[in-house]
Amino acid sequence: MLSSRMSNLHPYVPGEQPKDRIYIKLNANENPYPPSPKVIKAVRAAAKAHPEKMALYPDPDSNELKEAIADMLNKSGGVLCRANLEKGKKNGSGAIVSPSEFDKIPFVVTPDMIYAGNGSDEVLSFVFYAFFDSDRKLVMPEHTYSFYPVYGGFYDIPLEKIPLKADWTLDTEKMLEAANKENSGIIFANPNAPTSLGLTRDQVRKMLEKAPKDRVFVVDEAYVDFGGESCIPLLAEFQNLVIVRTTSKSLCGAGQRLGYLVANKELVEAVTTVKNSLNHFPIDFLAQTAGIAACRDAGYYAKCAQSVAFERDEFIDFLREKGWFVLDSQTNFIFCKKDGVNGQEAYRRIKKEGILVRRFDTPGIEEYLRITVGTHEQMQALRDVMEEI
Ligand SMILES: *Cc1c(COP(=O)(O)O)cnc(C)c1O
Repeated sequence: MLSSRMSNLHPYVPGEQPKDRIYIKLNANENPYPPSPKVIKAVRAAAKAHPEKMALYPDPDSNELKEAIADMLNKSGGVLCRANLEKGKKNGSGAIVSPSEFDKIPFVVTPDMIYAGNGSDEVLSFVFYAFFDSDRKLVMPEHTYSFYPVYGGFYDIPLEKIPLKADWTLDTEKMLEAANKENSGIIFANPNAPTSLGLTRDQVRKMLEKAPKDRVFVVDEAYVDFGGESCIPLLAEFQNLVIVRTTSKSLCGAGQRLGYLVANKELVEAVTTVKNSLNHFPIDFLAQTAGIAACRDAGYYAKCAQSVAFERDEFIDFLREKGWFVLDSQTNFIFCKKDGVNGQEAYRRIKKEGILVRRFDTPGIEEYLRITVGTHEQMQALRDVMEEI
C-alpha cells in the first residue's frame, strides 16, 4: 500500500514529551519563560472581539505579521541578548529595545524580504523544495540540526556531510571545497546545534565570498538571539543568502508554531510559490495574532534572553568546576560531557531525579549531554543532581 517514496523517509525524533510525571524539561531547547503578557492579552482579545475570524481563513500571506517581524528586526538588530533596554512607558510588560552598536542592520529590512510559515521546520522544508535538487549534493556539517537530513530524504536531495574540526567548529574550508566541487548549496545552523558554537559574521562573509554565487546558502539562526552574530547585515551583499529564524526559542513561542526567513525578495517569492502549491494558509489566525504581539514587545523577550544567557554562563562555570568538559555556548543550551561518565548513564540518573535533558545515539556525540538552559530555580535543581555525578 505504500508509495516507493516512503522508503526515503527517516523521520526526526524530537526531544521526549513524557506524560508519566511532571519533569523539569531541559531537553527541547524551549524557553523557560511564558510569552509576554501582551501576547496573551492580544490572543484573548482577538478571540473575543472577532470570534467570526475563527470561522474564516486567515490572511494567507501573514502581511501584518511580516511587517511586525521586519519592524522587530530593525528595532532590535536581531540579537536580543545584546539589545539595549530602556524602561517601557506605561502598563507595558516589556521595555523599549534598541540594537547594540555591533548588531545594527545597515539597511531597512522590509516585509517583502520576509516569508513566514508554520514553524521554521516548515519554512526549512519549503527552502529545501525551492532551492535544492537531486542532481548534486547539498553541503552541511556532520553534526548539525538533525532535521536537515530528514528533509534530504523527503525531497530526494543527496547530502555531503562534512566532519567538524577537532574543536567542534565548522570546517568551513572543507565545506567550501565540497560546495565548489559540485557547485552546490550549503546549509548549517549558526550558532550550530548541538554544539552551541557559532561562526562570526565575518567568517560567514568569507564563506559567502567563496561559495557558489548561483546556489542558495542557508544560515539557520534559531539560536542567534542568545549570543550569536546575525548574518542579516550580509543580505545587502549576497543575493543567494537565506536566513531562517524561529519564534520557538527566543520568543517563547514553540507552542504557536511560527518561523520565518529573511532573504532577498526573489527568493522570498520562490518560497511563497512553494507554499501556495502545498499549504496555502500555513499560519492560523491566533498564531498570527500572537506573533504580531510578540514582535511588538521585543523588550520583554530581550530580558528573557538576557536572563537565559546569564544562567547559562553561571551553569557552565559550575560544570567546569565539577570537571565537566563544556563548550562555550552562544545559545540557550549547553553541550557537555565528563570523562569517565557514560552519557546514557548520566542522562538516566538525571531523569530519575525528575529532570529531562537530551542525549544522542549519533556516533561521535554519544557521551555528550545537551542541556537546555532553564530558569534559575530549574538550573539549581539540576546543579543538585549533577553535583553527585
Ligand atoms: C528548534 C530549531 C528549529 C525549529 O524551530 P521551529 O520553528 O520550532 O520549527 C530549526 N532549526 C534549528 C537549528 C532549531 O534548533
